[in-house]
Amino acid sequence: MKRAVSSIRSRDVAHLAAAATAPSPAAAEAWDGRFRLHKPRGQHLLTNPRVLDAIVRRAALRPGDAVLEVGPGTGNLTVRLLESPAARVSAVEIDPRMVDAVTARVDALGLAHKLTVIRADAVEAEFPEFDVCVANIPYGISSPLIAKLLFGPYRFRAATLLLQKEFARRLVAAPGDSEYNRLAANVRMVADARLLMDVSKRDFVPMPKVDSSLVEIRPRAAEPNVDLAEWLAFTRSCFGQKNKTLGAIFKQKRKVLELFRRSRCAEERCDGNANAGGGSRLIALGGGDDDGDMSDGDSNEGHDGAPSFSEEEVAVFKAKIAGALETCELAGKRPSKLSNDELLRLLKLLNEQGVRFQ
Ligand code: SAH
Repeated sequence: MKRAVSSIRSRDVAHLAAAATAPSPAAAEAWDGRFRLHKPRGQHLLTNPRVLDAIVRRAALRPGDAVLEVGPGTGNLTVRLLESPAARVSAVEIDPRMVDAVTARVDALGLAHKLTVIRADAVEAEFPEFDVCVANIPYGISSPLIAKLLFGPYRFRAATLLLQKEFARRLVAAPGDSEYNRLAANVRMVADARLLMDVSKRDFVPMPKVDSSLVEIRPRAAEPNVDLAEWLAFTRSCFGQKNKTLGAIFKQKRKVLELFRRSRCAEERCDGNANAGGGSRLIALGGGDDDGDMSDGDSNEGHDGAPSFSEEEVAVFKAKIAGALETCELAGKRPSKLSNDELLRLLKLLNEQGVRFQ
């Protein structure tokens, strides 16, 4: 446990309250060591004022904007957001010590009227309405947070997020790139994402092991012409083993049986969650270091061990899948090389054949 917390206690001595009124911006960012920073909570404070200024500049805030910040920490980014043309900031913070720290700092600056701090887990909390999200988030929640932003009920102009560099590269990757994965395919379906700048790990206290990148995600105005819950379940199936060909993936007995069950369930409407479009299933975008969670978790044995279908039925179903793959000539292709249009065409053909993924 000891390794999990930062032991810097007396590194920079400017106290936050004093720093709030101090003229030097660098002093305000300094960490005074009043409490320990928890690495598992992603508590790495961004302390380089030039980088903090650049983030707010790149966020291009407009007068009247409502800003959502996730994980304000001691408020290094928050105070700049409050000093911008934006009308107000809602900051969601899980750690009560951070809630107190940012509240005290903003009070001392006389900016409290523009700030609402919500003490909650940002993955669970319902966000207030916002136009833009600007945040140096805890990297551990990158994937569920982006899923929540893009596939939840929120309508916003842009999210400007500081992310782990490798994660950011995967997020903006294009089909055929070595980093291209399910996360990128899902994000591409509804948004445009681009890299804005890289940020060194040396700009944080305590210094993390990884470098960071600032990314802008812009949701597209037009909704895609697909059932998003079905699409997300489909990409979970395809990208679980992204280096296998689709033909090989959809030939596997386990996979075929699993899809057979799901399809039958959807058909008979026996799955109570079949139509839960905005449910928690949407919160898994596949953004981790690997997509293994999508390939090895599902047991295809019936709960009572007794299958309620014949082998013949399954064989017919398997042939339908193979037929769809043949029709769109994708059996020999790997999912990570395909555009969303190609994948979408396959999904539509499979759906027409009664193959359902959720
Ligand atoms: N944005 C600040 C702090 C970044 S550290 C800065 O740039 O200096 C990440 C912050 O997110 C910490 O304050 C941590 O307590 C908070 N945090 C961690 N997990 C969270 C969660 N699930 N929901 C909301 N806040 C979280």
